[in-house]
Amino acid sequence: MTDTQLAHTNGSTTLDRNGSTADHIAPPGVRWNYAAAPETVKVTIEPRYGHYINGDWTKPNSTFTTENPATQKPLSEISNASAAQVDTAVKAARAALGPWSKLPAKERAKYIFRIARRIQERSRELAILETMDSGKPIKESRDVDIPLVAQHFFYHAGWADKLAYAFPGATPSPIGVCGQIIPWNFPLLMAAWKLAPALACGNTCVLKPAETTPLTALRLAEICHEVGLPKGVVNIITGDGRTGAAMASHPGFDKLAFTGSTEVGKKIALAAASRGTKLTLELGGKSPHIIFDDASIDQAVEGIIQGIYFNQGEVCCAGSRLFVQENILDQVVAKLKIRLASLRVGDPMDKNTDVGAVNSKAQLDQINRYIALGQSEGAQIHDVNPSTLPSSGYWCRPCFFTGVQPSHTIAREEIFGPVLSILSFRTPEEAISRANNTPYGLAAGIWTDKGSKIFEIARKLKAGVVWCNTYNKFDPSSPFGGFKESGFGREGGVQGLRAYVNLH
Ligand code: NAP
Ligand code: MG
Repeated sequence: MTDTQLAHTNGSTTLDRNGSTADHIAPPGVRWNYAAAPETVKVTIEPRYGHYINGDWTKPNSTFTTENPATQKPLSEISNASAAQVDTAVKAARAALGPWSKLPAKERAKYIFRIARRIQERSRELAILETMDSGKPIKESRDVDIPLVAQHFFYHAGWADKLAYAFPGATPSPIGVCGQIIPWNFPLLMAAWKLAPALACGNTCVLKPAETTPLTALRLAEICHEVGLPKGVVNIITGDGRTGAAMASHPGFDKLAFTGSTEVGKKIALAAASRGTKLTLELGGKSPHIIFDDASIDQAVEGIIQGIYFNQGEVCCAGSRLFVQENILDQVVAKLKIRLASLRVGDPMDKNTDVGAVNSKAQLDQINRYIALGQSEGAQIHDVNPSTLPSSGYWCRPCFFTGVQPSHTIAREEIFGPVLSILSFRTPEEAISRANNTPYGLAAGIWTDKGSKIFEIARKLKAGVVWCNTYNKFDPSSPFGGFKESGFGREGGVQGLRAYVNLH
């Protein structure tokens, strides 16, 4: 079915990418009209927030605004931590380190279990807040992010008094004071990935959330306070890249952990290397899916859709390059179009929404720049999603490109948006070499009916995670992390614990 045919069977009218009206169609039965089902619970947000340092809140200072990207309405004023405030937080974490690391491990575990339980109890509030601050659909924050956050704390609480079993033959001890800098795409989940293992291993922390999504990390500070976590063990400071840079260059950290762009990761690596500070980096990706002609195509299409349009494609491991075996290319493209047309883009607070708001104006500009580049370099855009976009907020209708060459910018660079590049291959060898032809190595997906092929291909792909006949599945016991420019070190599982202990 061509785009034009699709456009004629839907009947709804919407704006196309250039702002003109166009008819878009989904085949009968694919897209139903639902009544809006917005989340109605109101969450209290303070007008201004200070930092959470040494078990206390500082007076808000030199603030900036965090907004709701779906409405562009301000949510709160957030403080920008100065270098002096970073220093105060580091000193608080240093003072707390001795008592916290000497606490019997099962007592440490109790605090972490309490945090996990409070996250469960406050999960609805946290999901709503996450969606308001980040733009991600409520069904993702409610069913994916927040449950995983709680699981992470539960999982690591369980390890706290069993570290000797995690590292048989060695004696683990805490690394010390950890500086942790996280991005905006999974705000509370990234905070959990950083804090839970650090606390379980007896370290203390200073964590900085991203500038556009600080609210759930600040709520987590409240939870730490509620459960009586000793002061200084967790310090949450907010700010922009300058606060991050002040953390990276502070000599008081024994370890830095960073998740974010490769560009900033390299700067942090330089700062850490100059002092011999321990470091883990979780960076960007350009992850490939490989779909073979023996795959269950409908299942693969569902996984591909989920892999690239989940969280508006603002996922470091998004399956953003799709390699399709040549003889099934037309079939896969036709099915992808039908499924793409059925996605609902719009109010992230609506429980029916599949694709929410892009996190910021800067991110939307970046995505649009790549979409324009894809077209100007000669790839063909398939822009068949019929959603009518709200008049305010940052929105990008999901789309994909065919006719993509490996040399095209959209096949090489991380877009971090709901944009898929489709390429083809003939032999498994060609698929592997094309998939590995990237500076990144975070994740990959393989779609085939043959178990032997899965093992053969997975072994040869240079990616930290390889999902087989599924995609974007996370579990706290499963290590996550990259190769090459996607970073080093792992988060989750025993491998993730290793990043927070010294072994003797
Ligand atoms: P980013 O610009 O690198 O920001 C990440 C964090 O670093 C934010 O807290 C940011 O603060 C801070 N920061 C900015 N400049 C800094 C500096 N010079 N020194 C120290 N810290 C600094 O990345 P982003 O745009 O927020 O996130 C998107 C990127 O993260 C993508 O490339 C994505 O692939 C990657 N990511 C990777 C993973 C993974 O697990 N591998 C997970 C999620 C995201 P501000 O917010 O104030 O700028
Ligand atoms: Mg925000």
